[in-house]
Amino acid sequence: MVKPDGVQRGLIGEIISRFEAKGLKLAAAKLEHLPEERVVEQYREHLEKPFFPGLKAYIMGGPCFLMVWEGKEVVAVVRMMIGATNPAEAAPGSIRGDFGLDIGRNVVHASDSPTSAMREIAIHFEPAGLIDYSKIDESVLYE
Ligand code: UDP
Ligand code: MG
Repeated sequence: MVKPDGVQRGLIGEIISRFEAKGLKLAAAKLEHLPEERVVEQYREHLEKPFFPGLKAYIMGGPCFLMVWEGKEVVAVVRMMIGATNPAEAAPGSIRGDFGLDIGRNVVHASDSPTSAMREIAIHFEPAGLIDYSKIDESVLYE
């Protein structure tokens, strides 16, 4: 998900490009103002944390661009590509390392395990909204 700061800064295309160029396959995408209940549900594990009120205000501060990506080891690959939670510590070359500075304005969200990915996808997308398709001759693209 591109968070509101990433959307406002015009980074949607850059972020899609990185995942596309990596070879991941886009299954769904939409621009949306997230309602409070879905923000709370997505960040359920952080409800009691001191940063939660600020996090909720940040995520609800503008539209988010939500995406579902598929591919080999997709969760681990995407987490690597977005970089550490704190952009000041994220590796150069990662999205947060290249485009962020503040932990509370860290440009993107990504699920941290296949289990949380399934949970988070179900919060934001209908099953019918996930597009199942093949790329032309996948044997050229993938092992
Ligand atoms: N966050 C924050 N302050 C903190 C820790 C986290 O504002 O001290 C925000 C930040 O936007 C982060 C989100 O809460 O992306 C969720 O935190 P998590 O530890 O799950 O990091 P992530 O999975 O996004 O790397
Ligand atoms: Mg997290």
